[in-house]
Amino acid sequence: MQLKAKAKINLTLDVLYKRPDGYHEVEMIMQTLELADIIHIEESEETRVICNHPFVPEDQGNLVYKAVEEIKRYCNIDKNVKIHIEKNIPVAAGLGGGSSDCAATLKGLNQMWNLGLEDETLEKIGLKLGADVPFFIKGGTQLAQGIGEKLTPLPSPPPMWVVLGKANMGVSTKEVYTNLNLASIRKRPNTQGMINAIETGDIKEICNNLCNVLETVTLKKYSTVRNIKNRMAQMGANGVLMSGSGPTVFGLCNTYDKAVRIAKNLETLTEEVYVTKFC
Ligand code: ATP
Repeated sequence: MQLKAKAKINLTLDVLYKRPDGYHEVEMIMQTLELADIIHIEESEETRVICNHPFVPEDQGNLVYKAVEEIKRYCNIDKNVKIHIEKNIPVAAGLGGGSSDCAATLKGLNQMWNLGLEDETLEKIGLKLGADVPFFIKGGTQLAQGIGEKLTPLPSPPPMWVVLGKANMGVSTKEVYTNLNLASIRKRPNTQGMINAIETGDIKEICNNLCNVLETVTLKKYSTVRNIKNRMAQMGANGVLMSGSGPTVFGLCNTYDKAVRIAKNLETLTEEVYVTKFC
């Protein structure tokens, strides 16, 4: 069995407050992309995860491995699988690669083992493995609230090309949240404004409403991320924003030609540049 595990970007990301249990209450609009990892699943004597990327663990630390264990426990299953992850999504990049692989594995095993679990159940199992995992069960365009588990599907925005530019390093999401000073944030997303823009298919307003409060941490710390963002804006991207905790910056473009022109130019700043689209 072969499945696609799509990357995501955050069109908005707001952190409302830190909860007593240590988690942050968030409000974000997420969008899946065509850029995807490929997950191959086959029955096997023992559970094994293999990945072609040097920074991705192949042991119990891999979210795919955890997904297998968790769904087996939930459904009381005694079977094993070998899973091969073909990594195309940059790692520790703010594009949700690990969470997406995890969600794809839950969906794949549900099908392969005829478990008959509803999406809502898969989202509940996924939440135990990571706050972004539930979003990837359905993907598309969704508003995520709570710690990411309260999901509201939104209509698809108009098709747009997306240039991704990633500085040559990984960023730890945990570290970014630790360094976030909520009191110092001046600009917050207008989440309802973005929802209205998506509902009316207004590209200009979608671009005007792009906002991510985690930029206050990552852009401040890394000049390369700032440079990539500035360059995309100078080159005429319709809208630019950092995704998740970074370091990937995305530029939204209304034409393919523009996206390719920006991507070519960005190659002078970083090797990791991708052109993809909403999916
Ligand atoms: P998040 O914001 O959830 O941290 P991200 O897109 O910034 O997502 P990921 O690519 O998911 O980051 O990787 C974060 C870390 O998770 C990696 O450094 C890696 O060690 C670990 N990891 C575990 N499983 C996977 C997986 N299947 N793919 C990628 N990374 C994984």
